[in-house]
Amino acid sequence: MARARIRHPCLAKERIAMDVALFTCLADNYAVLIRDDATGTVALVDAPASEPVIAELDRRGWGLDLILVTHKHHDHIEGVPALVARYGAKVLAPAQATDALPQADRFVKEGDRLMVGDTVVEVWDTPGHCADHVSFHLPAQQMIFVGDTMFTMGCGRIFNLPPDMLYAALKRIGDLPEATRIYSGHEYTLSNARFALATEPDNAAIQSRLQAVEAMRAKGTPTVPTTVAEERATNVFLRARDVAEFAARREAKNRF
Ligand SMILES: [Zn+2]
Repeated sequence: MARARIRHPCLAKERIAMDVALFTCLADNYAVLIRDDATGTVALVDAPASEPVIAELDRRGWGLDLILVTHKHHDHIEGVPALVARYGAKVLAPAQATDALPQADRFVKEGDRLMVGDTVVEVWDTPGHCADHVSFHLPAQQMIFVGDTMFTMGCGRIFNLPPDMLYAALKRIGDLPEATRIYSGHEYTLSNARFALATEPDNAAIQSRLQAVEAMRAKGTPTVPTTVAEERATNVFLRARDVAEFAARREAKNRF
């Protein structure tokens, strides 16, 4: 039976303007600032450290209203206390992160809706890297912040969880519209691309993307964000045919 595909009305027109600033923290973490143009509201996605965030805010003349935390690993939250003290920003953290972030103002989970100014942010539960991981989806902007769930051409490590959780999370991200930009928490793409080519040596999209990634990294250019279309073509974890193949690839990458 054929079924009509219904487009979300705000995807067609009315793309709400937003400034996005991605920058490196610690060795290879990324933090991202998003600023809703209509209201000037600024949110930070993950806080690996406070100093680079403060430097970026100062450079742009922005304040900080919200901190959105994808998961409680230390390299995603270490900057939170100093940023809260300096800006009075409100902290939104995954529902199960109460022990790591007792000072959070709101604990969020699947189905919750947040506002960054006039911008709608949908919370997804994306467990698999760790049990209490969330992603932040901005449907009107066609953007998603996935923390350590998916990386450009890769995925997060699995810490003591069944592999089907992370596989399901990747598949859900991969089912978004193909222009959707995916922001992840680390610059691991060179290693991911080399592993991808070892896994699918005949994949022409992976061959050419490895070359592109090598050129970008040689110049220090971030390979984040990526897009759903690019990941469907070159992410061997997303491309795994079933959870068994996914789990085998994840195991192989741990030793790569
Ligand atoms: Zn992590």
